[in-house]
Amino acid sequence: AKKEGRNTTRFYQEEMDQWIKKRLFLENALRSAVKNNELELYYQPVIEMKTKLIIGAEALLRWNHPELGLIMPDEMIEIAEESGLIVGIGEWVLREACTQFVRWRAENLRQSHIDRIAVNVSAVQFRQSDFVDKVIRTVAETGLVPSMLELELTESTVIDNIDIVIDKMNRLRHAGIGISMDDFGTGYSSLGYLKKLPFTTLKIDRSFVRDIVSDTDDAALVETILSMASIFKFDVIAEGVETIEQFKFLESHGCQYFQGYLCSKPVQVKHFEELLVHEIQS
Ligand code: C2E
Ligand code: CA
Ligand code: CA
Ligand code: CA
Repeated sequence: AKKEGRNTTRFYQEEMDQWIKKRLFLENALRSAVKNNELELYYQPVIEMKTKLIIGAEALLRWNHPELGLIMPDEMIEIAEESGLIVGIGEWVLREACTQFVRWRAENLRQSHIDRIAVNVSAVQFRQSDFVDKVIRTVAETGLVPSMLELELTESTVIDNIDIVIDKMNRLRHAGIGISMDDFGTGYSSLGYLKKLPFTTLKIDRSFVRDIVSDTDDAALVETILSMASIFKFDVIAEGVETIEQFKFLESHGCQYFQGYLCSKPVQVKHFEELLVHEIQS
């Protein structure tokens, strides 16, 4: 047993070493990713349920590593946050998304119905004291109409230091910028929080949408979220809608917008433009 124990220890040690090595490697690679042009934004359409038109997009980060290939946010955001790199990356994401959106609105795609671009914001980024000033400056410099920008915050971002959070959100709102509560329902925020914080949009997390058709608890939960949202006058976007049945349930219970594979995955710029052109022509 003693021998086995030692082997197990060595096994874990090797695993740990590998893991640490990989993290250090990724952190260093991420450090140069912006400079080397390896980051890219994919865009997922946001659809209005009533008209079935694409009315906006959410920008989602992708990393094209020269050797490792395509790296998804789940494999990099945490490293970016812990190393502080997320601040610079987040600034790049915002500028890139605003610039792209202004371009879309100015080109022939102006016939499309897109009027909002959503950008994810990390808690680490939001916590920076100059966050609001930087956002407002970036919006002005890129020429985006402020009300077309929607910043997506999660509950964990707004849960700490409520007074500072409220002040920052109010300043963004006064500048005309919209704020979504992302992944709604997965965190710990109470109704009281929702009432105090000036959100414009609520995004129902994919984990609640998944089983709405088969699970009566989830169905009841989503119904409750939707009626609450209408009291608070939030726009509601359902995330992760994959089937017609989910769409129908949400639509019949007053949900206004959705994202999900039923319409499209997040796609590259060219592909997103094709989706818009297709819609304009049909
Ligand atoms: P999120 O903000 O909740 O984004 C939605 C995620 O759900 C995306 O994963 C999207 O690809 C996926 N998704 C959309 N529709 C469906 C569907 O119908 N079915 C399924 N199964 N999945 C769907 P992605 O792109 O891998 O992003 C994961 C998370 O990484 C995001 O979750 C967000 O929290 C974070 N993230 C992405 N881009 C950024 C960024 O630029 N900055 C920051 N701070 N976080 C980001
Ligand atoms: Ca999001
Ligand atoms: Ca989400
Ligand atoms: Ca999520």
